[in-house]
Amino acid sequence: MQRVATPEGTKALLNKYGFSFQKKFGQNFLIDPRVLDKIIDAANITKEDCVIEIGPGIGSVTQALLENAGKVISIEIDDKLIPILTQEYGHNEHFKLIHKDVLKVDLKKLIAEESPNRPIKVVANLPYYITTPIVMTLLENDLPVESITVMVQKEVADRLASKPGSKQYGAITVSVNYFAEPYLVANVPRNCFMPRPNVDSAVIKLTVNQNPVVKANNTKQMFNIIKAAFLLRRKTLLNTLAAHANLGLDKEELKRLLDESGIGAQTRGETLSLEDFARLSDYIDEYRSDK
Ligand code: SAM
Repeated sequence: MQRVATPEGTKALLNKYGFSFQKKFGQNFLIDPRVLDKIIDAANITKEDCVIEIGPGIGSVTQALLENAGKVISIEIDDKLIPILTQEYGHNEHFKLIHKDVLKVDLKKLIAEESPNRPIKVVANLPYYITTPIVMTLLENDLPVESITVMVQKEVADRLASKPGSKQYGAITVSVNYFAEPYLVANVPRNCFMPRPNVDSAVIKLTVNQNPVVKANNTKQMFNIIKAAFLLRRKTLLNTLAAHANLGLDKEELKRLLDESGIGAQTRGETLSLEDFARLSDYIDEYRSDK
């Protein structure tokens, strides 16, 4: 069977079904088989695995996943793609197609029903307009997912793999680092897609931590602090936490705690590591319980 992830393969399927792209769904189909090979290699898929694919499109990635995995569950929102995917791949007994918005799917239930015993890996060329909610949903909900290998906007990949103090470092970097270890697999130029997007892309692999890399007593509070710390970039931690973190402390108390914890009230949030945020959150907790 002709590979879909080539310019000819994609054009042939588009013509066969008279499909036209919908910009609102972030549809940029992969047409470079070398990039596809890199995704499949990096995801390290075996016949033991169940792969969840978000946004199969016309099946450019799905086709290779079906050759390599034991089971593939693809979730697609676009009505017009469902008959194409059903016609082209529906005969494969290892393929399950879900016609839904991925953000409305109960993934825990889906995994329990469809593949309770196989290791779960997520592989996708993501719709860029909802990259962050998809990645955070996959990480935050305690799903039995081993790894997430995804095509994202280059700027997002750089953010996820950035270090404290750099321009790209942000709340999303720290939050993702809490759950997983990011690895930049490959940069992908815009001519690898049809239609050609306005941005460059990259494949990133997030290997989900089986044990937390840091342990904060109150993770909800820690994430509140992280979010607030990056809201006002270039402002001191004291100013941004006092304004946005809702810690129930007055500014004087907060200043003292920041200094005493060794973090420093004049520090800027973007220089703190995940470990620093956990330490600060625990320090605030201890202060409250001693009060
Ligand atoms: N996997 C295909 C490929 O690599 O050629 C298509 C990738 S395209 C960048 C993103 C896909 O996600 C499209 O098929 C689009 O219709 C689908 N999509 C967009 N929003 C979605 C959502 N909320 N839930 C599920 N699929 C979605």
